[in-house]
Amino acid sequence: MNMDQSNMNVLVVGEHDNEHLGAQSAATVGAALQISSKVTILIAGNGCAGVAQEASRLDGVNNVLLVENEALAHQLAEPMAELIALLAPEYGAVLAPASPWGKNILPRAAALLDVMQVSDIVEVVTPDTFKRPIYAGNAIQTVRSTDAIKLITVRTTAFTPVGNDGQAPVETLNPHITPSSAVFLSQTSNSSERPELGTAKIVVSGGRAFASKENFETLLEPLADRLGAAIGASRAAVDAGFVGNDAQVGQTGQIVAPELYIACGISGAIQHIAGMDQSKTIVAINCDPEAPIFEVADYGLVGDIFELLPELTRAL
Ligand code: FAD
Repeated sequence: MNMDQSNMNVLVVGEHDNEHLGAQSAATVGAALQISSKVTILIAGNGCAGVAQEASRLDGVNNVLLVENEALAHQLAEPMAELIALLAPEYGAVLAPASPWGKNILPRAAALLDVMQVSDIVEVVTPDTFKRPIYAGNAIQTVRSTDAIKLITVRTTAFTPVGNDGQAPVETLNPHITPSSAVFLSQTSNSSERPELGTAKIVVSGGRAFASKENFETLLEPLADRLGAAIGASRAAVDAGFVGNDAQVGQTGQIVAPELYIACGISGAIQHIAGMDQSKTIVAINCDPEAPIFEVADYGLVGDIFELLPELTRAL
């Protein structure tokens, strides 16, 4: 579709669980508004009319498309991609958060549309040119997309979330969705009272140094609870089974940018740093003064986590 780039229609695919809009959607809208002022948000699921109302309050959103269908109840990639591909020709760009949810859906929609996805953008240079980290964040690539419809995943920590003072109209659509060959069987999720890792203001992360799940629980969790923090981990800690893989921070885990990131017994491999170096304040606790984590840390504590963490928790 040939469009004036700066005035193109932009579709944001809203992440939600049929009850609440995901926290990353507001920042995805923030990114979309840097491409164009004509932003639509799609809420697709089942029993999610309340989410569409929530989305309609996001500042800068022109209108909300609500699609409710049993086939979309679990937002499997197949029917979601089919729906996005169906709607996309009306838009110059389609954006989703670069969360596991967005990364599951958008590449499939890009394949159906036969366009090249632009992944993980951290800056909108112009409506067709974007910056994105490559080589685990060691280099920033500037890419221009000449595709008529640009499919983009957004690293939401790099964009300011929009506010909640909007009042956009909600339009209900009933497109035909082909029943998918993929069938939802069950979902297992960890329920936690702690804040969500991707959007928490404070993250306390642990690495291989904890040596066991029990140590992770008895040393790191009380500190996280004291600070009201989310728990993160290095891949080594996840692989060793100290904590679930949803806690992994880094290139192949979650990208976080909290106000405060406390890395405990983590060496600071580039793949870990890639997931947390945008944090506002970084504190590192490590017994090796040469550990690379100290190169990105604002405050460093050289010492043994088995002594320092209980002391720190007590002092707090
Ligand atoms: P280590 O590197 O073993 O570091 C442990 C640290 O603890 C050391 O610095 C040591 O000095 C310190 N220590 C030991 N005992 C104590 C003590 N008692 N008190 C204080 N400090 C102590 N890693 C990620 O984290 N996230 C990713 O997303 C990720 N993706 C990857 C993708 C690829 C393709 C590859 C190849 C690797 C990836 N990795 C990732 C793995 C990464 O390279 C590192 O292996 C991993 O981050 C190391 O974890 P760690 O720092 O806990 O362990």
